[in-house]
Amino acid sequence: MRDFSKVQSALALNTATLGHNLDGHGAGWSPEQIIDACAARGMGGVVFWRREIGARAFDIGERARAAGLQVAGLCRTPYLTGAEAGSDDEIKASIDMAAELGAGVLTIVTGGTDPDTKGVLDSQKRLAERLHGIAPYAAQRAVKLALEPLNPMFGGNRTCLMTVRDALNVCDWVGSENIGIAVDVYHVWWDTTLAETLASARGRIFGYHLCDWLENTSDMLLDRGMMGDGVADLKSIRASVEGAGYGGLCEVEVFSARDWWQRAPDDVLDTILERFASLC
Ligand code: ZN
Repeated sequence: MRDFSKVQSALALNTATLGHNLDGHGAGWSPEQIIDACAARGMGGVVFWRREIGARAFDIGERARAAGLQVAGLCRTPYLTGAEAGSDDEIKASIDMAAELGAGVLTIVTGGTDPDTKGVLDSQKRLAERLHGIAPYAAQRAVKLALEPLNPMFGGNRTCLMTVRDALNVCDWVGSENIGIAVDVYHVWWDTTLAETLASARGRIFGYHLCDWLENTSDMLLDRGMMGDGVADLKSIRASVEGAGYGGLCEVEVFSARDWWQRAPDDVLDTILERFASLC
């Protein structure tokens, strides 16, 4: 495993951690302020959300690279399945934005199960069909698509992928080199088959997301823990991810409306650095 005790360059900030992906939350820092604060702390990358980028994708991407940061990713495509699935044109527009931003990875939260189905398999197969149609468009623009399985409590309306195994199955069905997975601690910490499953994920892991699962979580979506404050075995999960060949950035993604989003962004970033060096 990589030693993060002195090196911060493997760390990336997902801007959701500062409350920027939802109206009424966070300190309102601009992308430029975030870039400068991450670069000043020696971080290696930043991950934005589409709503922050608007029509400024190229400029923000160039600004990040000039500051020495990778734009490690963009969150995320419209849903591909379920009652709120986006159109092909909307999904292609999100791919265009990732390409213009220079984000190597565009994350996919799939959307829920399709309205006329029961269980998850039919929706997963429809997901694979849609991805099969979209993958070449993304490949032409050098954008990798990362399927993020979500904790099963999000099954139904947000995802039809609830385990890493689910996501890898869909990758296999699609069979495109630019379709892989994102492993997020919040969504996989409970899965005792994770190490075994990830052992077959070589070359398919496009992202690793850090946070923690609070023992008494109060909100499924907006009460994530900072690393070290919860019950996830962070080092063991990273050992499995790196054992499958992942050597990319570790992206801190903490949705925390009542705690971390209430704090000054500089304090949040300093805490992330400390926790990353000692606990992750
Ligand atoms: Zn995530």
